[in-house]
Amino acid sequence: MKNIILIAPPAAGKGTLASLLKAKYNYAHISVGDLLRDEVKKGGELGQKIHQIMLAGKLVSNDIVSEALVSRLSEPDCKNGYILDGYPRSLEQAIEYEEVLKKLNQDLGLVIVLDIDKEILINRTTGRRMCKECGTIYNIYSTDLKPKKEDSCDKCEGELYQRADDNIESFEKRYQTFLTQTTPVIDYYDNKGVLYHVDSTEKEIALAGLEKILFSEDNID
Ligand SMILES: [Zn+2]
Repeated sequence: MKNIILIAPPAAGKGTLASLLKAKYNYAHISVGDLLRDEVKKGGELGQKIHQIMLAGKLVSNDIVSEALVSRLSEPDCKNGYILDGYPRSLEQAIEYEEVLKKLNQDLGLVIVLDIDKEILINRTTGRRMCKECGTIYNIYSTDLKPKKEDSCDKCEGELYQRADDNIESFEKRYQTFLTQTTPVIDYYDNKGVLYHVDSTEKEIALAGLEKILFSEDNID
């Protein structure tokens, strides 16, 4: 299968779509945030380096992210194709990633941008509520995910709460950062002719849209 880079604004359903593709086509799902945390847990030389940087409150450099990626993408579960989630986040990383691919002798594959109305993202974010007791996630604006009682969990009657950064101000900040950082990345891949857009309003529609691209004549190996 072709490797996939998923680019999407916050709350667009990137993780959900990656899980669906993993279940259906055996893709490896590589979230770069998790990858760095896993390296720290493993505690090797690279992990210790990353740990020091995180402790100092600094950003992990592109060199180190690349090193972690080369190691992770060489693992056997990536042989059938992998999905990159949260990377490349900037034009610098997109350029750096070309070197990673050269080292691995891999193709870039497809770059998929998830398109979705900003209003929907705002509702998903500001409507999200979690149960303090069992962690079940609800959304007060969604017909499917709305709790029966506004403040308590359907399953265990635990209290529902809103995460501190699930408010409109934090969302706007994350959304603006996404636009600023990712627009040059999108233009970069568009110029290479590997960029596709998928409607991500609903997960089934997003999956069907992505499959259409994956199995189009241009993209079958
Ligand atoms: Zn609960």
